[in-house]
Amino acid sequence: MNLKFISLASGSSGNCFYLGMSSYGILIDSGIGIRMVRKILRERGIAIESIMGIFVTHDHADHVRSVGNLSEQFNIPVYATEMVHRGMQKCYCMTKKVSPANRRIIQKGESVSIKDFSVTPFEIPHDGTDNVGYSIQCGDVNFCFITDIGHITPTVCEYVSLSHYLILEANYDERMLAEGPYPPHLQARISGACGHLSNREAGEFLATHYPPQVRQIWLCHLSKENNKPHLAYHAVSAALESIGKKVDRDVRLMALPRTSPTQIFEIGKDENSLYGSYVQGRLFD
Ligand SMILES: [Zn+2]
Ligand SMILES: [Zn+2]
Repeated sequence: MNLKFISLASGSSGNCFYLGMSSYGILIDSGIGIRMVRKILRERGIAIESIMGIFVTHDHADHVRSVGNLSEQFNIPVYATEMVHRGMQKCYCMTKKVSPANRRIIQKGESVSIKDFSVTPFEIPHDGTDNVGYSIQCGDVNFCFITDIGHITPTVCEYVSLSHYLILEANYDERMLAEGPYPPHLQARISGACGHLSNREAGEFLATHYPPQVRQIWLCHLSKENNKPHLAYHAVSAALESIGKKVDRDVRLMALPRTSPTQIFEIGKDENSLYGSYVQGRLFD
């Protein structure tokens, strides 16, 4: 198996992840421009025509901006819950809507199969119309995508416990948010139970629910105004160390860049390596 993962963008300016095999793949969200999605994939040798589906986490603009465009132009099915589909129909930021022929309704807790992928959406507390995370099984490897999450729930713990590769939100540094430029109502929204996860909360969650088989953790959706990659990275690595887990020895950790794409992470290419091939540095602006 040669599984590939790319973060095309991650943060409030746009989110898009790619997970693929040698000849096909899927996208999780598409909140950046269609031309950018094509360019990033093309530069990494991936044809847009090989995308078999777009899985949407929720209907906020930074996750859906180009979903309709991509779907219509390349005839790609869009997988989302019924409420998220409805939300996307109303979303002002989507200049093109998903046509009925390409709408696929998914249900939380029910898996959808696309070739080698089995994709299970699960409930995430956030203030979109409806929100899901994704647990994606491919052979014996499990990827778990969790972004835009106000707080951790038992369901989230359950899916995280299965993961070998975890994409988890670390949105803000609590001090930066409190002392930053955001007005009180926005600070309350972000730190509220249906807002976003802080660096401390991400770290504490991982320290109390560390999946023993996890190989790599990517921290996603870092705030531009209220976070820095090194703060997110250090908050989580310190929390892991508090339970005796050392980054780079027991697990890889990386704060994903907000606006620049990563290289391809190739999973399972080198069977002797616990982590797959990994060449890029871990810190970004
Ligand atoms: Zn978002
Ligand atoms: Zn959101």
